[in-house]
Parts: sequence; structure tokens; C-alpha cells
Amino acid sequence: MPQIKAYHRPANLEEAIRLLARTGVNTAVVGGGAYITAHLDELVDEVVDLQAVGLTEVSYSGDRLTLGAMVRLQTIVEDSQAPALLREAAHREGPNTFRHAATVGGVVVGAGKESEFLAALLVSEAEVQMQSSRGSKSLPLAGFLRDVAGSLEGGIVTAVSLATTGNTASARVGRTPADQPIVAAAARMAANGQIYLALCGVAATPILVDPDNVKGAINPPADFRGSSEYRRQVAATLAKRVVNEVSS
Ligand SMILES: Cc1cc2nc3c(=O)[nH]c(=O)nc-3n(C[C@H](O)[C@H](O)[C@H](O)COP(=O)(O)OP(=O)(O)OC[C@H]3O[C@@H](n4cnc5c(N)ncnc54)[C@H](O)[C@@H]3O)c2cc1C
Repeated sequence: MPQIKAYHRPANLEEAIRLLARTGVNTAVVGGGAYITAHLDELVDEVVDLQAVGLTEVSYSGDRLTLGAMVRLQTIVEDSQAPALLREAAHREGPNTFRHAATVGGVVVGAGKESEFLAALLVSEAEVQMQSSRGSKSLPLAGFLRDVAGSLEGGIVTAVSLATTGNTASARVGRTPADQPIVAAAARMAANGQIYLALCGVAATPILVDPDNVKGAINPPADFRGSSEYRRQVAATLAKRVVNEVSS
């Protein structure tokens, strides 16, 4: 059990960044706390809770939606303007109590390999906005997920933006409807005809995959719910299904 020496609840982003930038203090960020409160690293000295910094704005501009990092998953479920794919994926991420706590920033940084919410963001051309003591920057979600810690540079995710237009579809295979998927697929055809396909349960994080080369592009990890070959076959079948649906 880690022995936390200090708990901080900064009132603004600048203060949060200042606390995280201190040298010699091993600090962890708390978003909604749904995951990290039970999984704190032994080496963590202090926590910086983002509850009071804001970052709760949901804004629409043209064909983009921007979600502040502290927007709760349940807020997205209840937003009738939000894309249906995103709302459904937010709903599937966990039970009601979890969705009221878990935040967009926490899910993005948590990078769970079976997160259908992350798959929905990937096909929606999501960009992750970050701020650290070095300044602010933005990265495509796919690149961010390849190296979460390296992308963050000790800073904070402040927002995620995504496209709201296009045909979308999703499909999943799980042990039960409420369970995390073994493999899941999401697809979106953008207005220019480009098809985006994302898969969960086939790599360390959800990934974007070339719709024309699904089997060749993945090397799924095996676990008690499915062998690598089983996941590869299911992924190819689900991918075909969702790509056909968005193209028709
Ligand atoms: C199969 C599976 C595997 C998972 N594996 C992991 C895992 O390995 N690690 C993990 O953290 N979660 C994991 N999760 C949990 C998932 O990411 C949660 O949905 C999410 O973390 C809950 O959001 P929260 O706001 O409560 O996050 P919290 O529990 O508050 O934080 C989660 C992580 O994100 C960081 N964080 C939160 N908000 C921000 C922010 N705005 N800027 C920078 N960092 C932030 C925290 O420091 C922590 O590392 C997994 C989920 C699934 C389904």
C-alpha cells in the first residue's frame, strides 16, 4: 500500500502543471479516480486531483466536438448531440457508477486494450490536447496511444477533439453482453469516402487498422478468453461486418 505524503486539489490548470513539474517528487494525476485510486504505484509520493481545475466543457464547432479532459463518460451518454457511436461506446465502458466517475482524460491515459470508447475516438480522427511545463501541444490519438508517457511529458491531457460526421458501425464479441469485449471493431466512413477501422482486444491498446489487411496487420495477445488465432479470426469477421455496414 503506497504511503501518500500529500494530496493536492489545485484550483486551476496552471497550479496543477506547477505541482506536476516539481523535481524530486513522484506525483500521480487523479482524474475521476475510478482506476488509479486502487492501482497507485508504490513509488508515488503525492497526488494531484484535477476535480477543481475545470476542463469540463463540451463544445461543438463545425464538424468537430471537443470534450474537456474532466468530462465524465455519463455526460457523453446523456448528450443527444454527440455521435451515436461515441455515446454507445461510453455506455459500454462500464456500469453507471463507473461512468459517473470516469473521465475522458482518464480513459485516454489509461489506454485499456479493450476500450470501445477509445476505438470510437480512433475512427473519429481524435486529437489529444495536452499541457505541461513545456507548453501545450496536440497529437492524433493513435500516436498518443503508442507512447502515452512519452507523449504526456509529465503533463496533463486537457481535451480530446473528434469528428462528428460520417457513417459509423460497431460490432463486438464478449462472454456476456455486459462484459468487456474479447474483440471489438468500430468503423467510420468520412465525408470524403475514407474508411477508418479500429480494433480492440488485438494489441496492447485499441489500434487503427488498414481495412484491406486486417489479418496481416495484427498479432493479438492470447489470454484465458481467447487464443491469438481465435482473436485474429474474430477480428477479421467483425472488421468485414462493420466496414460493409458503413460502406452500404
Ligand atoms: C482492459 C482494461 C485495462 C485497463 N488498464 C488500465 C491501465 O493499465 N491503467 C489505467 O490507468 N487504467 C486502465 N484501465 C482503466 C480505464 O483506463 C478507466 O476507464 C479510466 O482510467 C477511468 O477514468 P478516470 O477518470 O477515473 O481515471 P483515473 O483512475 O483518475 O486515472 C487513470 C489514469 O489516467 C491518469 N489521468 C487521469 N486523468 C488524466 C489527465 N487529464 N491527464 C493526465 N493523466 C490523467 C491517471 O494518472 C491514471 O494513470 C483499464 C480498463 C480496461 C477496461
